[in-house]
Amino acid sequence: MTLQRIAAAALLVSSLFAEAPGRKKRTVTDEEVRQVHESAILIDTHNDITSATVDGFDIGKPSKDHHTDLPRLKKGRVTGQFFAVYVAASYVEGNRSAHRTLAMIDTVRHDIIERYPNEFLFAVTADDILRAKEQGKIAALMGIEGGHAIEDDIRLLRRYYDLGVRYMTLTHSNDNTWAGSSGSKLNKGLTQLGREIIAEMNRLGMMIDISHVSDQTFWDALNASRAPVFASHSSCRAISPVPRNMTDEMIVAMAKRGGVIQINFDCGYLNPDVARAQEERAKKLRPKLEALRKKYAKDLERLREATRALRLETPLGVRATLADVVKHINHVVEIAGIEAVGLGSDFDGVECLPEGLDSVDLWPNLTRALLEEGYTAADIRKIYGENILRVMRAVERTAREMQASAR
Ligand SMILES: [Zn+2]
Repeated sequence: MTLQRIAAAALLVSSLFAEAPGRKKRTVTDEEVRQVHESAILIDTHNDITSATVDGFDIGKPSKDHHTDLPRLKKGRVTGQFFAVYVAASYVEGNRSAHRTLAMIDTVRHDIIERYPNEFLFAVTADDILRAKEQGKIAALMGIEGGHAIEDDIRLLRRYYDLGVRYMTLTHSNDNTWAGSSGSKLNKGLTQLGREIIAEMNRLGMMIDISHVSDQTFWDALNASRAPVFASHSSCRAISPVPRNMTDEMIVAMAKRGGVIQINFDCGYLNPDVARAQEERAKKLRPKLEALRKKYAKDLERLREATRALRLETPLGVRATLADVVKHINHVVEIAGIEAVGLGSDFDGVECLPEGLDSVDLWPNLTRALLEEGYTAADIRKIYGENILRVMRAVERTAREMQASAR
């Protein structure tokens, strides 16, 4: 038997015994769920409600149209929320990416934090998140989604850092001039400029997010970065084989350097049956979507609405469950350890969420599912926040060291 075969056999044996050694399925009380949930610092590293607040949605008002609003964030006891500064690839044309980035940063600073100062605390460090927990507030943080946001200029990267951005997803579903995307078939790696951007992110103390990137760019970024890298919202390809998810090899390599994979709740990323249904529906809807894209080429807002309506008319018929989320967490724990996994929901960025995790108030349901699976309170605290806090601190430390050695 080759080493690879032995490893594969060992993996097969471990997956036959769904309960890992030391973990035992059990029943739990409501009181235990409440206590464990409240003891944890819950940090979600990806939420897209900003695409609504930038267009006037008031996060303070209860809403049925979105997964996120302030009353439900409080109910779900979220301590740290990374809001996505999402810049669609369509802004590249005409060099409008920087404008959009600034508008998205402004919606977090102005429409969320400044509008509700008693509820949100503007946070840029791991310590800020702990302070929010002490004060019973929600730490609001920012991550740029789509490296084209810097319009190929490291000077813009520095200014975004100054405005409070603490991670950047190197690509969205488009290749940019310096990094490759999992949404492209080219599997491009980092260019020289890409490596310079990584070095500057290290020096500034901005986390490198490898969600959405191509496999080659993942490896290039991991090798180029002096600080741990992380995936803000990705799941396991071994369970649902979509390009947006990470292979076991990637998860293990990233974990060895101190990084974490923050599990994404998109039904298709969690469950391969849903992924297949999504793919089949996409094929069926392609001509209709193409027509809509032509019709609303100049009106992105209308295009978004029409696309959404079309999808609603054509339901998937299958959904993921809380058990799927637990399965992904178990998988990362098995191959890379309890220190390697966290949560990046993608609330308000995806159409389909698992049953029982339909919105930000329902986080305690995941706490219950993990307790029932046999995870301890200490395990859950790692998954919910301690792991990503460790990454944040490592990134902050690298920045301090690089700045000190340059003096
Ligand atoms: Zn995304």
